[in-house]
Amino acid sequence: MEEKLNLSHIKKKKTKSKDPCPICEKDLYFNDKYSQRIGIFDTSSVKHDVMGWACPHCMSEFDIDDNIMYIYGQDSLQGNT
Ligand SMILES: [Zn+2]
Repeated sequence: MEEKLNLSHIKKKKTKSKDPCPICEKDLYFNDKYSQRIGIFDTSSVKHDVMGWACPHCMSEFDIDDNIMYIYGQDSLQGNT
């Protein structure tokens, strides 16, 4: 009995293994346990709460919900006080 294994039609989509930066689109995925994201902590608080993360490639900063807080190289749009 011959068994044919045709793998060509099997497409596995592993979207979770890739973790691109929303700004520079460089892959932040490192391995199953770690990402290349740089943790940002609130050093002014005693507990050092996690405030968000930064991309090591473009140094843009995000909060813990992946909202963009700061895009490196872009001037603040808030203007001068
Ligand atoms: Zn980036």
